Amino acid sequence: LPEVFTAALPVLKKINEAGYEAYFVGGSVRDLLLKRHIHDVDIATSAYPAEIKQIFEKTIDTGIKHGTVTVLYGGESYEITTFRTESGYQDFRRPDHVTFVQNLSEDLKRRDFTINALAMNVDGNIVDHFDGLGDLDKRLIRAVGKAENRFHEDALRMMRAVRFMSQLQFTLEPETEQAISDNHELLSKISVERIRDEFVKMGIAPGSQKAFQIFLDTGLFEEVPGFKGKKENLALYPQLNFSPTTEANLWALMIILLKLPNEKIAHFMRIWKNSNAMERQVADIVGFFDLISSRAPNNYDLYKAGLRTIVSTIDLANILGQPINGRALVDRYEALPIKDSHDLVVDGHFLLKNGIPAGPRVGLLLEEIKKAVLEGIVSNNEEAITEYIALNN
Ligand code: ATP
Ligand code: MG
Repeated sequence: LPEVFTAALPVLKKINEAGYEAYFVGGSVRDLLLKRHIHDVDIATSAYPAEIKQIFEKTIDTGIKHGTVTVLYGGESYEITTFRTESGYQDFRRPDHVTFVQNLSEDLKRRDFTINALAMNVDGNIVDHFDGLGDLDKRLIRAVGKAENRFHEDALRMMRAVRFMSQLQFTLEPETEQAISDNHELLSKISVERIRDEFVKMGIAPGSQKAFQIFLDTGLFEEVPGFKGKKENLALYPQLNFSPTTEANLWALMIILLKLPNEKIAHFMRIWKNSNAMERQVADIVGFFDLISSRAPNNYDLYKAGLRTIVSTIDLANILGQPINGRALVDRYEALPIKDSHDLVVDGHFLLKNGIPAGPRVGLLLEEIKKAVLEGIVSNNEEAITEYIALNN
């Protein structure tokens, strides 16, 4: 058993000793059986939140109303959630009522996919009411119960389906796929932030080309910001050499496939509710990609782009099957005499002291000096630069 589980076993035992049931549930059990990396374990229990708080010394009220208490134990934190069912879902996205229940099977029934509806007790026995084990074997994403109903309850599950396809490199069970096709419009009820999180997870995982094909075929793509009517552009995605590995490159790729002009990048990033930092990073990558697609970058271009953007852009070019000598670009960057303005031996004060009048000329001249240093016309030392100023001013 991986360390994350053995570390959590005493937590389950303590709950059991207090007279309640406790299981590992959801993603961690799935990933254990698939021998995938496990980031955190979730625990489900018959105990009420108040009872969990009595068993453990250190707890945090994470979501008492939904039955979740975070327990701090042995230097780790665990989300412990009371068995519950959900009902209502009038708005296609969240249950109107959460009801605590006494048995595990009711709790497993509310979960999205069969492979996510597995539980494991302290002895390592697996509880599997929906043949999740069979689906793990067949590598299938299948809704628990009638897919149509499950997507009516919570339309985000349709995005989760394609996200898990991509992350696990699984196929979508045909009825589940049909239900997504029939109900894709319901995705419009879900907040952009939640769609974005699933979209990004889908996009940066190894199976993203196949998942993206389903995202297109089922019509889900029509319900997300900026994609409606763009099927032809997006159809290139499933043919890519491999998946982007970073969120910034996923967005850059989308912008390139959608052929968005520069002035529309900010708007596109904003309708997806991306942060300003992400927006800037993506604009830099797209800008540098356009540059290297049109001409050989000079040293000043490399300096302005910076290593992170250069490396991302090389990845992007590879994903798009565009031939580019990435190693050579990185080597050239590494060899630059200056990597940022602090590396330049002179600054604005130096120019003022050397007779340049205060004003916009100072900044422009500094930029000129940088270019000259980067192109190897001037050495990065005060004497050489002073001489350069005298000759060029
Ligand atoms: P990850 O590795 O991304 O954390 P996960 O399976 O743990 O994958 P979570 O979003 O953390 O996914 O959810 C934990 C569990 O809660 C899921 O395995 C599933 O059983 C249940 N679950 C989460 N979201 C939903 C949902 N929208 N509808 C039904 N069940 C859900
Ligand atoms: Mg999880």
